[in-house]
Order: sequence, then C-alpha cells, then structure tokens
Amino acid sequence: RNDTVGFIGLGQMGFKMANNLYQKMNSPLIIHDINKAAMEKFTLLHKSTLSQKPIFHVNSPIEVARKASIIITMLPSSPHVKKVYLEGQDSLINGVDENSFLIDSSTVDQSVSKLVSNQIIDKGARAIDAPVSGGIVGAEAATLTFMVGASTSEDFNKAKEYLSHMGKNIVYCGKLGTGQIAKICNNMLLAISMVGVAETMNLGVQLGMDAKLLANILNTSTGRCWSSEVYNPYPGILPNVPSSKNYEGGFSNTLMAKDTRLAVKAAIDSNSTIILGAIAQQLYNQLSKTAGYEKCDFSSIYKWLNDLSRV
Ligand code: NAD
Repeated sequence: RNDTVGFIGLGQMGFKMANNLYQKMNSPLIIHDINKAAMEKFTLLHKSTLSQKPIFHVNSPIEVARKASIIITMLPSSPHVKKVYLEGQDSLINGVDENSFLIDSSTVDQSVSKLVSNQIIDKGARAIDAPVSGGIVGAEAATLTFMVGASTSEDFNKAKEYLSHMGKNIVYCGKLGTGQIAKICNNMLLAISMVGVAETMNLGVQLGMDAKLLANILNTSTGRCWSSEVYNPYPGILPNVPSSKNYEGGFSNTLMAKDTRLAVKAAIDSNSTIILGAIAQQLYNQLSKTAGYEKCDFSSIYKWLNDLSRV
C-alpha cells in the first residue's frame, strides 16, 4: 500500500488526469467511479501496460483507502465530496490511517473543503484542497494549474510530486480552503468573460461580420482573453474545443452554475460586491435548467444567445 496511488472520479477531467498520472508513474493505480463503464474504458485504454503496471477497480471509497495511501479525488460538487469522504460505512474516512494523504481536486464550497480535510486530519491522516484550472484541454496535455490549500508546506511539497504529473503550475495558496477561494475567483471571471465573448461573437455575426475574422481581430486586440483565444464559443473557429463538437464534453453548464453559485455565496458571506458575477450566475443557472443545455459545455451560452436573437 505504501505510496500506491488511488484515483476517484473518472469524469471529463479525472479520466484525463488519471491517464497522465498512470503513464508517468511507474506503479499500479487503484481506481474507483460509480460509473463502472468509465473504469472499464480506462483500463482498456492501458491494456498494453497492465502486466507491468496493473490497474485495480474497486467498488467503494473505503477500498481505495485500504489499498492506496495517496488518494486523489475529482468529483462534481460539495455533496459528492462529502459523501465519498465522510458519509456512510464505505466512505474514505473509515479507511484512512496516519499514512494516508488525500488530495481533493474537485471544486467545492471552501467551508465544505475545510470541514472534510479537518475531519480526515483528526483521524491522523493528511488532507489538502487542490482544485484545478485549464479545462479538458489542460487535463489532456497535463498543463493544468493546481491551486493548493494545505496546512503545511511539507504537505504542499508532497502533493506537488504527484500533481506535477498532471499539471504545469502548482501554486501554494495558503492554509486549507484557500485553493478553493482562488478557484472560485478564477471561475467567476471565466463565466463573465465567456458571456462577454459569446455576446460579442453573436453581435458581430448578426451584423454580418465573418466569425473567424472577428475572432482573429479580437485575439490580436484588447478584447482578447482565454474564452476568445483558446476556447472560442463560436462553432468551427478552433478544432478540438466543445463548440466545434456540438458543445459536447468540456465543462458543463451545471458545473458552471455550481461554481458561480459558490462565488455568489462567498460574496454574500464576505459582504463583497459582485455585479457581473451575479448576472453570470443567473445566466448559467438558467442554462443549467434549460432542456438540452444542462450537460452542454458552458460555451453553449453562445448558442443560447444566438437562438434568442432569432426569436
Ligand atoms: P464529471 O461530472 O464529468 O465527472 C465526475 C465523475 O465523478 C463522474 O465520472 C462520476 O461518475 C463520478 N462520481 C460522482 N459521484 C461519485 C461517487 N459518489 N463516487 C465515485 N465517483 C463518483 O465532472 P468533471 O467535469 O470531471 O469535473 C470534476 C470537478 O472538476 C468538478 O468539481 C468541476 O467543477 C471541476 N473542474 C472541471 C473542469 C472541466 O473543464 N470539466 C475544469 C476545472 C475544474
């Protein structure tokens, strides 16, 4: 079990992250997801190396904790993280000991993150928050940014050893929960910038401008940002981004509604004024409740605006 790594949550991001981790480490990997098909797909992808580096499927978080000492989780939101870490007989907390080191890369409420980590630490194990930025493109290329909240710099350094297999920038943000603060601030800005780029592309196209030309101009002008340059929401401008694949894959409207909700909640709690952030939250809330849009990538705000423009 010593130094064996376990990975829980093989979704849009976790699958690609675990893939890089497995390829770069010279050791077996323990995996768990409630979606068994995701585990099977993962193992099938690595069938040529299984004899040297086995991949073990397990059916519960506690089994991951019993078989692995380093555990990385990549789950959708706060309730999922609470469930996997703390709730029920087969949760992680019932399997950890003083050798366990838990890294949660999911984006969750910072109060939930602190609660979960502190309960694990109370059991004698170590736990940190390390949410990520960079999307599925960064997850695939192992160029993610990890924002790490950890009780000690020793914990940060230990996490870095593993996180550097999946990311390029591993940043120590401070005490537990601070990784989550950095992450929701980033995603609030991302939501605002995506809405802005989608509105801009839609306006330009409605006025008769060629979409590719407009995107090129934006990307060499002052409007340039990640949403225009790396993840443009207009279909066909960039290959391999969700907007060019019918808005499939990527970062769902449901998850963006969740992240902006976390930002709005944090703003209320800290009495901070966030006007555009609150508007972006309402837009993504709406999209996450609109039939056909829930699971689409968050760049589908362009399609939604475009549909409205034709009414
Ligand atoms: P996802 O929904 O695609 O994947 C989540 C995975 O967790 C799924 O495979 C699901 O089956 C599994 N899961 C859910 N509940 C479980 C449980 N109780 N036990 C075991 N497995 C369980 O989500 P994602 O897009 O990969 O995002 C994961 C996290 O990363 C989220 O917090 C998200 O906000 C954050 N994030 C996503 C992106 C992105 O571009 N998708 C980018 C940065 C951060």
